[in-house]
Amino acid sequence: MDIEASGVCHSDVFTVEQQRPEVELPTIPGHEAVGEIVETGKDVEAWSEGDRVGIGWHGGYCGDCESCRRGNFNMCRNGEISGVTRDGGHAEYMTARSEALANVPSELDSEDAAPMMCAGVTTFNALRHTDARPGDTVAVVGVGGLGHLGVQYASESGFETVAVSTSNDKRELAKELGADHFIDSSNGNVAQQLREIGGADVALVTAPAAEAVEQVIPGLGTDGEVTVVGVPGSPVETSVGQLIASRGSVSGWPSGHAKDSEDTMDFGVLRDVHTMTETYSLDQYEQAYQSMMENEARFRAVVLP
Ligand SMILES: [Zn+2]
Ligand SMILES: [Zn+2]
Repeated sequence: MDIEASGVCHSDVFTVEQQRPEVELPTIPGHEAVGEIVETGKDVEAWSEGDRVGIGWHGGYCGDCESCRRGNFNMCRNGEISGVTRDGGHAEYMTARSEALANVPSELDSEDAAPMMCAGVTTFNALRHTDARPGDTVAVVGVGGLGHLGVQYASESGFETVAVSTSNDKRELAKELGADHFIDSSNGNVAQQLREIGGADVALVTAPAAEAVEQVIPGLGTDGEVTVVGVPGSPVETSVGQLIASRGSVSGWPSGHAKDSEDTMDFGVLRDVHTMTETYSLDQYEQAYQSMMENEARFRAVVLP
């Protein structure tokens, strides 16, 4: 693939800081890449030179393991991870496995589409696997790279959407993205404010922080679900009594496979969901990474090689 755009995700940290055992340096990080195919392998029939494709965290599956045989390709036990087990997208070119590629709709430019390969598919796919129905209250915790898309997906899916952020300066923007309510988590009790609007049926936690998970659990409505997609750097402490009292649950959701990414982009085209990006050249990657790590990126840093 000739890379046209490559989003900078918080999970780049696993490679940059070598936080996962699979990382063997040198490895190029990046798992939100969109580009054009310049050459295909000899057995590849699904794609041709010139196709515009994207690849996300899911970098390929084996087809033979227990998970694959049940059709859970994203849960493959021998799966590849872009930018972790093989070189990723922060480069001029990358190789990718055929089954991990998603077709990018012509309506989306590459800079817009790249973040949908992780930030987008992770939030979209997590939301559509909850029990939330139109009209239910869905809180999106964190309005960053993932959350600014999550708010749009929640709103466009017909949920009463609550944006929760530590930055009050994101209030107006969150409303523009479709949030019906905004909770400034730096000021006041998040759970109490959630309960005041009836309690959350779903809280999608995109902020990679333990307290982001902890603060919403007491704000769940009956049978409420906390779905965590941002990976906190420290353990989550919670009162199980709160979960029992609400019949609540906390679960995680890991991204999606190529078809999920296509669904995400198609939904984006259908409902006018777009990524808000700040762009960097390839040799500015370190700057882009810092902007993301310091929660300053508005909202997704994207490298344009
Ligand atoms: Zn990611
Ligand atoms: Zn497998």
